[in-house]
Amino acid sequence: MLTVEDLKVRFSRYDGLFGRRITTVLDGVDLEVRAGEFVAVVGQSGAGKSLLAHAILGILPFNAKTEGRFVFDGEPLDESRRRALRGRRIALVPQAVTWLDPTATAGRQVGWSARAAGRKVDERLIASEFARYDLAATARRLFPHELSGGMARRVLTATATVSRADLLVADEPTTGLDPQVRDLALGLLRDLADKGKAVVVITHDLAAAMTVADRIVVLRSGRTIEAADVAVFRSGTPAHPYSRSLRAALPTHGFTAPPDPIDATRPSTACGHLHDCEVAAPACVDVPPPWVVQSSTRVRCHDARRP
Ligand code: SF4
Repeated sequence: MLTVEDLKVRFSRYDGLFGRRITTVLDGVDLEVRAGEFVAVVGQSGAGKSLLAHAILGILPFNAKTEGRFVFDGEPLDESRRRALRGRRIALVPQAVTWLDPTATAGRQVGWSARAAGRKVDERLIASEFARYDLAATARRLFPHELSGGMARRVLTATATVSRADLLVADEPTTGLDPQVRDLALGLLRDLADKGKAVVVITHDLAAAMTVADRIVVLRSGRTIEAADVAVFRSGTPAHPYSRSLRAALPTHGFTAPPDPIDATRPSTACGHLHDCEVAAPACVDVPPPWVVQSSTRVRCHDARRP
């Protein structure tokens, strides 16, 4: 349904009166999601996960420059196609509840999304959307400031899923939810994948992702470093040293703190993970690690090539 290849995002900022500073925030992000598949994109804060979501939707800030290849449903996804498909065939569940319009009731906002997607809006449609997320009928008449954090997140999710988009990109959809509501929200997204939708969930919560995803894609400071079947994370050994660190940070797998984000002030090396890597080799200093395919895993690491 969606392929992203070698996505780069750079921000241009003023530096002094006449200067410009270019900051690269995504530098080689690859992602693939098929219809009926639930892909979790995991990584620490600052890895660029939300920027990836916004790049897919075409809602990056004006000073962002994007390079890379996007293909949606077999055709290139350029800006004009994004505009035409956004909210209809591609929908975002945003991270911040501040995306809700403070001046409109929750029911009204879900109705707007449905109408924008070309659906006929009536009482029954809105009632069924609210029931689907275990939201009381009375919540439809509440304004965002009257919703609890968990309710607001569920309304946000409803504004995306009511569109019946083919591709849903959910940016940290479980932030601030208690475990029961988190499992409900993820279960609903899983259900959408089982019904044939392509679902991408951006999350820092690897443990939760491992319970529902089909595949896990790992970002390390703006770059995809591994994409693997969830079975690899549940019971096997991820191929990339950083993926192994993320897994080892889970309470059920050792609770060891993962390395910090890559320090941009250090001298640049071909693999940014070099300073934290226990299996680094001389090539890692100046030869960019290639993609290596191992069964259902794609990993960007020199070590994966060793016997
Ligand atoms: S490419 Fe080298 S430094 Fe980077 S993760 Fe693999 S072994 Fe470690």
